[in-house]
Amino acid sequence: MGEDQGRREFLRWAAVAGGAGLLASCSRGSGTSAASATAGGSAGPATATADGAAQGARALATPQATGSPTPADWTALARDLSGPLVRPGDAAYTVSKRLFDPRFDSLHPAGIAYCRNPHDVATCLAFVRKYGVPVAARCGGHSYAGWSSTSGLIVDVTKMAGVSVSGGTATVGAGTRLVDFYNELAAHGRAVPGGSCPTVGIAGLTLGGGVGVVSRAYGLTSDNVRSLQIVTADGQVRTCNSSQNSDLFWACRGGGGGNFGVVTSFTFGTHPAGEIVLFFLSWPWSQAARVISAWQSWAPHAPDALWSNLHLAAAPGGSVPTIEVGGTYLGSISAAAAQLEKLYAAAGSHPSSPFMETTTWLHAMLVEAGCASLTVNECHLPTQNPQGQLSRASEYAKSDIFTKPLSSQGIGTLLAGVEKFQRAGGAPGASGGIAFDALGGAVNRVAPGATAFVHRNALFQAQYTTTWPLGSAAAAVARQHAWQQSFWQSMRPYASGQAYQNYIDPALANWRQAYYGANFTRLTQVKAKYDPDRVFTFPQAV
Ligand SMILES: Cc1cc2nc3c(=O)[nH]c(=O)nc-3n(C[C@H](O)[C@H](O)[C@H](O)COP(=O)(O)OP(=O)(O)OC[C@H]3O[C@@H](n4cnc5c(N)ncnc54)[C@H](O)[C@@H]3O)c2cc1C
Repeated sequence: MGEDQGRREFLRWAAVAGGAGLLASCSRGSGTSAASATAGGSAGPATATADGAAQGARALATPQATGSPTPADWTALARDLSGPLVRPGDAAYTVSKRLFDPRFDSLHPAGIAYCRNPHDVATCLAFVRKYGVPVAARCGGHSYAGWSSTSGLIVDVTKMAGVSVSGGTATVGAGTRLVDFYNELAAHGRAVPGGSCPTVGIAGLTLGGGVGVVSRAYGLTSDNVRSLQIVTADGQVRTCNSSQNSDLFWACRGGGGGNFGVVTSFTFGTHPAGEIVLFFLSWPWSQAARVISAWQSWAPHAPDALWSNLHLAAAPGGSVPTIEVGGTYLGSISAAAAQLEKLYAAAGSHPSSPFMETTTWLHAMLVEAGCASLTVNECHLPTQNPQGQLSRASEYAKSDIFTKPLSSQGIGTLLAGVEKFQRAGGAPGASGGIAFDALGGAVNRVAPGATAFVHRNALFQAQYTTTWPLGSAAAAVARQHAWQQSFWQSMRPYASGQAYQNYIDPALANWRQAYYGANFTRLTQVKAKYDPDRVFTFPQAV
C-alpha cells in the first residue's frame, strides 16, 4: 500500500475512531445540531436508570438540612451567584442539563449553577447543605456513569476556564476542556500530558489520573499537578500542594472526581511542545494473533518517547474485524521508524498501510482527538462553540489493567470476543471493540502510594467499548451491552483485576479494590476529614 493510501487510512482512522482508538464517541459527527442529537437519544432513558445514575440523586441527611428549598429559596440562590443558575422551565434548561452521552438525557437536575469563581461554588455548597439537596460537580460531562448529574444541584465549573502560563508552570481553570487546554498551552510552546477526547474536562480527567498519548514520557495528567484549589464541603477554599493540605493533594491525584470537593483550578508543571511523530499501522485480521503477541512485548518496554495503542474493532454483520496500531514518538521520524521495525520483526510481517508524519504538537493533539481536519473552534460541540462540529454520542465502556502479557489462550479469547460482536445483533452502524494503551515508562516510575493513583505496575490498560448511532433501537443496544459484559467476563483469567477509575463502571462490583487497591483506606480517611457528612456522594463514591 502506497504512502497516499496510508495517509487516507490514517485520516479515516483519526476521524472515525479518534486518533488513540479510545475515543469513538469523540469523533467528528455529521454536524448534527445539539437539538437533533437530543431528539435521537431514544436508548437513553432506560439505560440511565439502569446504570444507577439517578441513584446519585438521593437526598442528603446532613445535620444542617432544614427541608426542601422553596422556589423563593432557589431565586435567592440565583441572586447570590455571579454566574447564571438555570432551572427547569428556563429556555436554557434542556441544553444545560445535558451530559456528553445522550443516555443521560432522562436526568432532570433541579438546578445547574454555572459558577464563575470559588465564592459561587461555596455559595452552592452552603445551599445544598442547608436544604439537604444532592449535589454533583460537573466539568466536561463525560462521566461514563452519568455521575456528574443529579436530581439536585449541578455545580458546573466550565465558566472557570482558561490557561495562564508563567515560566515552567501553567494555571488552568478547572472547567477547561482538553482541546482548549492543548491549544492555549501550545500558544506558549508548552504541553501537559492529557487524554485524547477534546471535550473531556480537565477536572474529571486529572482527578482520576489522565492517560494520554505522551504518558509514557511525561506521566499521567495528575502526576504533573503541582498545586490545586478546591472548595470543600464546608465552603472553605483550600490550596493543596506538597506543603498545604497535603493529604487532600494526595487524594486529588487519582482519587477520582466528585469525591472530596469542587476543584476550581490546577497548577501544572509543563513540558516543551515540540514537533512529534504520529504513526498509524494496520494489518489484515488474519495476522491479528501475531501482531497482538508482538505488540504486548514491544509497546510497554519501548523507550519512553514511544507511546502506542492497539485497537481491535468489529461491526455488526459479516465484515472482517480490523486491527490497528497507532501512536506517537518524541524524536526524529527515522528513530521512530527504527523502533517500529522491531515491532514488525516480532510480528513477522510489515503492516499493510503504514503511515508516519512529523507534525506540530497542537496538530497531533487534534489528530488524536479525531479532529484532524478541523480547527480548534470546530473541534467542539455546537453548544460549546458556534463553529463546533462535533456531536454527542453514546458509548458503554469497561476497563482492565494488565500486568502480565496475554498467553496464547488469552489472545485466542480476545480475538473470539471481538469476532463475536459481528454476530451480537447490534444496531446498524454500531461498533464494538477493545483498545489497549501502552503504559510503563514514566507512569510506572511513581510509587503506587505516592499519589492516589495506584496502578503503577501495568503493562497496558484496555477499554472495552461499544457505540451506536443516535436513535438506535433499545433492544439492539441492549444486545451490544450484553456482548460487552460477556467479552469482559471472558477475559477475567488474564486481567489483573485492576480497573481505571476514570472509566467509571457502574457494573463493577469490587470497584474499591479495582480502582484504588491499597490506597482505598487512606482515601476514606481523607474523605472523613474533608467531607464527614458525605455531601459529595454517588454510587461509587469513596
Ligand atoms: C469519549 C471519552 C473519551 C475519553 N478519553 C480519555 C482519555 O483519552 N484518557 C483518559 O484518561 N480518560 C479518558 N476518558 C475518561 C475521562 O477521563 C473521564 O470520563 C473523566 O471523568 C471525564 O471528566 P469530565 O470532566 O469530562 O466529566 P464529568 O462528567 O464532568 O466529571 C467526571 C467526574 O468528576 C467529577 N467532577 C467534575 N468536575 C469536578 C470538579 N471541578 N471538582 C471535583 N469533581 C469534579 C464529576 O462529579 C464526576 O464524578 C474519556 C471519556 C470519554 C467519555
